[in-house]
Amino acid sequence: MDFELSDEHLMLRSSIREFVDREILPKIKECDRNEEFLPPLDTMGEMGLLGICFPEKYGGAGMDYIALAIACEELEKGDISLRSIISVHVALTSCTLYQWGTEKQKQKYFIPQNHGEKIGTIAMTEPSCGSDIASITTRAVKKDDIYIISGQKTWISLANVADNFLVLARTGESGYRGLSVFIVERDFPGIKTNALHNKLGTRAGDTGELFLDNVEVPENSLIGQEGEGFKICMSALDNGRFTVAAGAVGTIKAALDASIKYCRERKAFGQEIGKFQLIQEHLAYMQAAYDASQLLVYKAAWMKNQGKRNTRETSMAKWYATTHALDAADRAIQIHGAYGYSSDYPVERLWRNIRGASIYEGTNEIHKLIQGSYILGYRKYKPLRYEFPRFEP
Ligand SMILES: Cc1cc2nc3c(=O)[nH]c(=O)nc-3n(C[C@H](O)[C@H](O)[C@H](O)COP(=O)(O)OP(=O)(O)OC[C@H]3O[C@@H](n4cnc5c(N)ncnc54)[C@H](O)[C@@H]3O)c2cc1C
Repeated sequence: MDFELSDEHLMLRSSIREFVDREILPKIKECDRNEEFLPPLDTMGEMGLLGICFPEKYGGAGMDYIALAIACEELEKGDISLRSIISVHVALTSCTLYQWGTEKQKQKYFIPQNHGEKIGTIAMTEPSCGSDIASITTRAVKKDDIYIISGQKTWISLANVADNFLVLARTGESGYRGLSVFIVERDFPGIKTNALHNKLGTRAGDTGELFLDNVEVPENSLIGQEGEGFKICMSALDNGRFTVAAGAVGTIKAALDASIKYCRERKAFGQEIGKFQLIQEHLAYMQAAYDASQLLVYKAAWMKNQGKRNTRETSMAKWYATTHALDAADRAIQIHGAYGYSSDYPVERLWRNIRGASIYEGTNEIHKLIQGSYILGYRKYKPLRYEFPRFEP
């Protein structure tokens, strides 16, 4: 076992820190308040972040899943809207195209996404169902050599920014067996998107609705086979959840760093508040949460690098890290007293932002069910008919 980060990892970390300090932190407060989209996609593309963990032959940066975790941690320290780009574009969409796309689909969609020329997102959730994804009603009907898709999606990250949408639609029987995934371009006639406003957090990011009104897509837009949609989405979530967990590690660190600074500045009863043992208790919990969450993330990253199935480990990392990140942000507010309750300090934004991470990509309840069923043996890792891509530079 090796706990050292490579020189490449350390360089990546310092270049993202520098980027966040220079381009994000000076603007974030205002963008968050005004619901302005902040992530500088061009710069992120130039830095290789939009194709970070994919082979160079496909236009990726050729880095591994530890690098992906480092990127998420550092970006989320700037703002969750930046990490969301990695979760949605890289993990949920590009990883899916890498794993399931044909060579033609990779050339047409995956490579431009890795270069940052096109932005991708995934549209599973509908107004009447999120966790129970097998109940979706968006339909894709085959007619000669096209599919016609109609339906409505909601709570879609980057809905108003993305060029490509992976859309989950029903092609067959009710339940999870009748689902398929299609890649749909924004320019296809019948597509409309709409922004959602007044969210609690991720206000400097984009979340919206997607309307599909008899959208005609060529039959080669189908990802994988007809009926494989549920399985494809679950594999997408194994990657998306990993990035949410890694980002939550960044929220814990941001909460801890802000708290350490404040503990040294603020005085009460004639001394720095850091001298009070009950304040130190908060810091100790936050540090333990940081170390344990990061270890869970790195374990899942190691499994991904080897091409091993990691559904259970990734779910654990996501549930644990997001739960403890919310707790860490809450403790940070407590340490800041009344100032923590104000937008003058960054900790209330950390709390608002991380609240959503226990909801998207599997609610806490769903992750507890996943863990319970693995513990009891109701779920097991069975040999799969498909391969997980292992790290390839
Ligand atoms: C900021 C943000 C970004 C998002 N981005 C995307 C995106 O890009 N693409 C996309 O497709 N979706 C996205 N979503 C949607 C997200 O994935 C869903 O919100 C999530 O899956 C939960 O679904 P729901 O909100 O419909 O809640 P529901 O599924 O209706 O759940 C409501 C409550 O019931 C509980 N519950 C449900 N089933 C069970 C059960 N079996 N046992 C116990 N409790 C249960 C839930 O845990 C929850 O507490 C995003 C959401 C947010 C907030």
